[in-house]
Amino acid sequence: MPKKKLEPTPEETPVEKEESQQVEAKPARAAKKPSTEKKTAVEKKPAARKRTTVKEAVPIPEPAPAVEAPTVPEPVLVAEPAPAQVPAPDLPQPRRSVAFIGSECYPFVKTGGLGDVMYALPKALAKLNCDVKVILPRYRCISQERQDRMIYRGSFQMDLCADGRSFYVGIMEYVWDGVVYDFIDNEEFFSYGNPYTNLVDDIPRFCYFDKAALAALNYMDWVPDIIHCHDWQAALVPVYLRTLFAQTPLAGAKTVLTIHNLRFQGVYNIPTIQYWTNLPDYVFNKDALTQNWIDASMLKGGLTYCDRITTVSATYAGEIQTEFYGEGLDAHLRYHAGKLRGIVNGIDVDQWNTRTDKLLAFNYGAADASAQKRANKLALQEQLGLEQNGDKMVLGLISRLTDQKGLDLVNAILPALADGNTQVIVLGTGDGRYEESFRQFENSYKGTVCAYIAYDETLAHRIYAGSDALLVPSLFEPCGLTQLIAMRCGTVPIVRETGGLKDTVQPYNQYTNEGNGFTFDRYEAGLLLDAVNRAKTLYFTDRPRWDQMVRRDMEKDVSWESSAWQYRELYLELKP
Ligand code: ADP
Repeated sequence: MPKKKLEPTPEETPVEKEESQQVEAKPARAAKKPSTEKKTAVEKKPAARKRTTVKEAVPIPEPAPAVEAPTVPEPVLVAEPAPAQVPAPDLPQPRRSVAFIGSECYPFVKTGGLGDVMYALPKALAKLNCDVKVILPRYRCISQERQDRMIYRGSFQMDLCADGRSFYVGIMEYVWDGVVYDFIDNEEFFSYGNPYTNLVDDIPRFCYFDKAALAALNYMDWVPDIIHCHDWQAALVPVYLRTLFAQTPLAGAKTVLTIHNLRFQGVYNIPTIQYWTNLPDYVFNKDALTQNWIDASMLKGGLTYCDRITTVSATYAGEIQTEFYGEGLDAHLRYHAGKLRGIVNGIDVDQWNTRTDKLLAFNYGAADASAQKRANKLALQEQLGLEQNGDKMVLGLISRLTDQKGLDLVNAILPALADGNTQVIVLGTGDGRYEESFRQFENSYKGTVCAYIAYDETLAHRIYAGSDALLVPSLFEPCGLTQLIAMRCGTVPIVRETGGLKDTVQPYNQYTNEGNGFTFDRYEAGLLLDAVNRAKTLYFTDRPRWDQMVRRDMEKDVSWESSAWQYRELYLELKP
């Protein structure tokens, strides 16, 4: 039987105090050790809570003074952070409120495409009359400048573990571009430099974060229409919502869980997840969290309990229902196929705008791409110590260096690529064996191959702009953003036909002179080499047609707009 003691009763919240509260400065980072004091759970608020009128919470520059963190729940300080609504006739109606919950978000913290989506999609939804709040962990690695602009919204102790351990939950808020960012503050869980360390630490961290995110929504008295969760790190949210939070006002919200990458599922032994979540026993069955009889999968639990599953391209939505791409969850996904759909990602076209990008040596648009990309190429070659020659074809590769990304294919053909007319630039970090092999190639082909083993946003912008083509030969690719960014920058993608790569890159057709890039299907090095050679042939023998493709790519709509509409429609399906 589930333990009931962590589920607070409405009477536990001091309603009558609420209206007299003012926003107060509170400790910026006041994480507390697990308390042995009397636990006061605050996940739930009374349904009859009276809403207060609110002012928009704006970032303030001063860090809050240090004061001892409270051990008891505090009343809500500001009831509604969203900007006051002036009905605008051109905005789609009705307005919908959405809480995004995820583990990373550009520009605060980003390790891959998830961070881009958590930034760009809320912004696009805000323009479509959605009131969006993004809930994230407050990692220590978030820049001090941004930390200083957060304001304290409140804090409380939250019961978490099966033995009744409770933890501090602080809420720090940052309002920017029509989106409210609420950071869950707890030093014990989020004081590492990197958002992800190893599963031993990450499992408790996200068991805590998911519950804290819901508790924070209740605490702020903000019941969104939709709670939109992302990847395994936020996948317990629907599970908590339908179990421990089932009697709270939040339970009226519908949940969407987006799979950005099915490979990562948050799988750990059942007793550990049971301990850290105190979820009822019945969720640990083979149709929900239990996987392979002995483990619990946080993602699988979320897929079971959410109202809709989305993934980031239509092709990947189909692929993950097959054994090859299903990562052990294909049967589970086939069972839930009725609530699964694919919506392809876009990119933030303001962030990726070669006309205005200050990081580039030379700005350009579709009309002057040919000359200006060449100028950017020369600047890039100089920066990276490559032979400066605008006539060489530069192939870029910007990627996490992992098996997913098809790097064994690149390794296999790299000697063939370095043919005297072509240069290769690799930017990435990840598995040691790939880092090492690319370094060795750089040593063997000095001036022709550059392996920049780092995560570097600025250099990424310059490689997108200065390369002629970008390699994305992934084994699997849920959506892939690098090919979209490349097209936006007039860099022709060379991709494997899988997942979102297949959905976003139309193969070049030499007979009709149509298409956006070069593609290959089976996961074979020879086929990648063939695709690169087709690209080279066009580049070196028919530059006018190549330039036309560059122009087509730059003019292609890779923005969030159409996808944001699809998400909005999905939300309306759930909450008409
Ligand atoms: P994934 O999420 O699987 O890593 P995506 O293609 O969806 O792959 O997103 C990758 C994002 O991370 C892109 O914005 C890309 O430019 C960026 N990126 C990847 N590696 C690096 C790197 N080493 N330096 C800077 N940006 C990188």
